[in-house]
Amino acid sequence: MKFNVLTLFPEMFESILGTSMLAKAKEQELLSVDLIDIRDYTQNKHRQVDDYPYGGGAGMLLKPEPIFRAVDDLDYSKQTPIIFLTPQGETFNQAKAKELANYEELTLLCGHYEGVDQRVREELITDEISIGDYVLTGGELPAMVLIDAVARLIPGVLGSQESAVEDSFYQGLLDYPHYTRPRDYKGLEVPQVLLSGDHGRIEQWRRKKALENTLHKRPDLLKQADLSEQDQKLLAEIKQELEEE
Ligand code: SAM
Repeated sequence: MKFNVLTLFPEMFESILGTSMLAKAKEQELLSVDLIDIRDYTQNKHRQVDDYPYGGGAGMLLKPEPIFRAVDDLDYSKQTPIIFLTPQGETFNQAKAKELANYEELTLLCGHYEGVDQRVREELITDEISIGDYVLTGGELPAMVLIDAVARLIPGVLGSQESAVEDSFYQGLLDYPHYTRPRDYKGLEVPQVLLSGDHGRIEQWRRKKALENTLHKRPDLLKQADLSEQDQKLLAEIKQELEEE
């Protein structure tokens, strides 16, 4: 999968792309990221990318010409999304990450200052994505969040020991609790069932804990989750246990 990233600060991406999963994915040629400096597409002496907004008001705006030129210069399929990271966009979530992981190529535009000239949004942008209801200084951190979340869903990027399928949200629920050695840490013991070797019981315990976790922390997710009859039974058990406490 290929990401084209249009940014004023390509250097911000270096550490994240050079570390851990993303570095491995690049090494294995499962992922490539083309960092495009919007300033390289300016045609003025000072490489100026911003200007004052018409109508007055605070802040500067990214000018349209360098962005149009940069997109024109991309070697990309016109069928693939050009995403503007903006607090006004659709809120990013795991379902959106899964949807985007189906593309072979994505182009991301990182805004700065007050954002970009509206004509860029109307003419070039196919999707607007926000990473949450707060305002950051630029679209670089949101772009990195998106790249990380999408890349880990590309087949082969995660090793078999780090399956994305059991992560929170993948199946509409939060993850279950995890334990590692030591078995007993200052009197805090690992649940017996996990030591039993009985895979059926372990699987059921984990499912119940995932349901319980979701019920406590994000009950809104349960309304949309695809729950089996067995899940419904486990949920009823959890609620019963809560009432008895
Ligand atoms: N004036 C803009 C508004 O209120 O919608 C905010 C501009 S913000 C200071 C500068 C840039 O940071 C935006 O153009 C966008 O690219 C990025 N940005 C800030 N917060 C974001 C968020 N929550 N999600 C995605 N991108 C964000």
